[in-house]
Amino acid sequence: MTMLIAEDLCARYGGVQVLHGVDLAIAEGEIVALLGANGAGKTTLLRALSRQVASSGAITLAGTRIDGLSTARVARLGLGHVPEGRGTFTELTVEENLRLGALARPRNLRARTTSDLELIAETFPVLHEMRARQAGALSGGQAQMLAVARALLARPRLLLVDEPSLGLAPLTTLELFNRFQSLRDAWSLTILLAEQNARLSLRIADRAIVLSRGRVALEGPATELQDHDALRAAYLGDA
Ligand code: ATP
Repeated sequence: MTMLIAEDLCARYGGVQVLHGVDLAIAEGEIVALLGANGAGKTTLLRALSRQVASSGAITLAGTRIDGLSTARVARLGLGHVPEGRGTFTELTVEENLRLGALARPRNLRARTTSDLELIAETFPVLHEMRARQAGALSGGQAQMLAVARALLARPRLLLVDEPSLGLAPLTTLELFNRFQSLRDAWSLTILLAEQNARLSLRIADRAIVLSRGRVALEGPATELQDHDALRAAYLGDA
């Protein structure tokens, strides 16, 4: 099944057009890296997909047109979004943040909340150790894991993750990315990962889409893109 299709997606901020007719398709269970230089439009694309930014063009999530729907409705249809900068509740404990995430899950999965919390504890042992601490006391890497774990507990079908490597050491980033892979397998998740760190994200992605100035400049299997000259050019922002 195709999890996500975007057709001719255009978005603007006032008079400045940022997305210029983006087309993309993501199969169920894929991990796709969305690459591109600073300002290429990755964040805007993710926000358009989760309906936080107005756009023209068609967006279809698991067979349902979602471009006319609200962010809340799209979330209920299974689209999760971890924004850049994480957005956890710093005054609440780690466990409270996770439980809030689980509140957003579909009715038919509520009975599995306890076992899913256990899987999250196994996948992110540090969050389990820190469960009674305030989220504001976590390190950058831990806070990023909490943001991802919280979004996962809503059991999205498609998870959009914006720039998770920001401020993280490469090893921490790789650790987080490896967890994406194991959870994809456990929960048949589909993941769209916006990243400036092409090297690390290509290690876990099946496929990559490179945005350059609001257009898809290049796409293909991650293994093929790993040493593609055009990717480096686009990644460095001079494509
Ligand atoms: P970054 O990695 O810096 O987040 P990005 O690829 O995610 O880059 P966007 O954040 O989508 O890119 O930004 C694309 C363009 O839109 C940039 O030129 C940016 O300055 C502009 N832009 C982003 N948000 C707004 C806004 N709220 N108002 C006006 N312009 C914006």
